[in-house]
Formats: sequence, structure tokens, C-alpha cells
Amino acid sequence: MTLTAYRKKRNFVATAEPKGREGPEARDGDSLGYAMQKHVASRLHYDLRLEWRGVLLSWAIPRGPSLNPAVKRLAVRTEDHPLEYADFEGVIPAEEYGAGTVLLWDKGTWQPENLNADGSLPEREIEFTLHGKKLRGSWVLVQTRGINGSRDGSTWLLIKHRDQYASAADVIMEEPRSVATQRFLSQVAEDGGGDVARASTGDPPRRAPSKTRAKPAQERAKSRLRG
Ligand code: MN
Repeated sequence: MTLTAYRKKRNFVATAEPKGREGPEARDGDSLGYAMQKHVASRLHYDLRLEWRGVLLSWAIPRGPSLNPAVKRLAVRTEDHPLEYADFEGVIPAEEYGAGTVLLWDKGTWQPENLNADGSLPEREIEFTLHGKKLRGSWVLVQTRGINGSRDGSTWLLIKHRDQYASAADVIMEEPRSVATQRFLSQVAEDGGGDVARASTGDPPRRAPSKTRAKPAQERAKSRLRG
């Protein structure tokens, strides 16, 4: 586990992303950090980050997580990220790697549930519990074959296990805001001088602009009663 690939892809003069250092390994009893970022780059995707041995193991999830245990979501393994990345929210400048807008969608801790006898993480099937604000309970990441049938370790599926947190609710549509700042993607882009129009393609459709935001239904009903 190393940040070499992470650093090679980025110019830290241009991007505000952390350069990072290999952090200290969590000791027994320490909780391990978890984060999920929503990232409008060349395509919208979600980035799952799981702290392990001083870095964040990372997977890009094109369609985002689903709380429905019957739904398997593609998760493409990406380069390890520095621990500080779990707090990153902002704009990655045009021309830079991952150019676009990043929103901190969920954050918390996680626990691996099926470690090997020597304490290492299983290679092909990682069962784990998430303690986030939006994602909770038991999940599994299963390595699978790529589109071309290859098993190069990059293609995984993220699946919710059946438990009290499993649900038919569309968590992505229902909870689109930043867990850190309550902003929508378009607002993160606007505040960071990014591409607002592009970022807004990742926000829920038909959101009224903030200045003319519609009143909640209850309010509207009340004002009707008041005449
Ligand atoms: Mn990404």
C-alpha cells in the first residue's frame, strides 16, 4: 500500500487535493475511517474510501451505492489515497487528474468482518460494517471478472447485506447533499470557482434555484388556508 500512484497522477501546485503522507497504521481498538465522495469528473461517480494500514483503499462506483441487497453495484478499484483525502471537498481544476467537483457525501468509520487469520484483508471478498451518516450496517465487496473476462483485481461489486439498514429507499436521490457542509454539488462548484453547470448535472433534477426555492408542501398548504 503506497501513495506513489496517487502522487504520480496529480500536480499539487495546481490541485487543492492533499499530497498526503502514509499515515500511521491504526492500532488495535482504533476505529478505521470511512468516506464516500460524490465526484463529477468526466462522468459522475461515487468514490468509496476505506482506511487500511495508513492509506485509504479506494473504489469508484459509477452508479453509487444501493441499500437494496438485490442490487449489485460495479466498483472499480482505484489507487490508494492519503488519509487526509477523507475530508476533501472542493474543485479539482480543469486539465488536472479527476478534474471536476468533489462533494463529501458520507463519512464515518468502518469495520472489516472477515479478516484473514494473520490480520490481513481478504483478497477477493471483503465483508464489512459501515458506521456512516447515510450508509450503515453490513456490506460486501466481491472481486469479479472484468468485461473482457480478465481477473486483474480492478473489478468488484458492492452489495448491501440484508439487515435492519437494508432498504428500497433511493439513498442517492433522497440524500444528495454534503455530509460536511450540506451543499449540493453545484454549490461546491460555485464556491470553488468550478464548472457550475456541469456540477449541477450531478444534483437531483428539477431542484429550484436557491433564490426562488419552492416552499415545502406543508407551507404551501398553510398559505392556501390563510388565503
Ligand atoms: Mn473520483
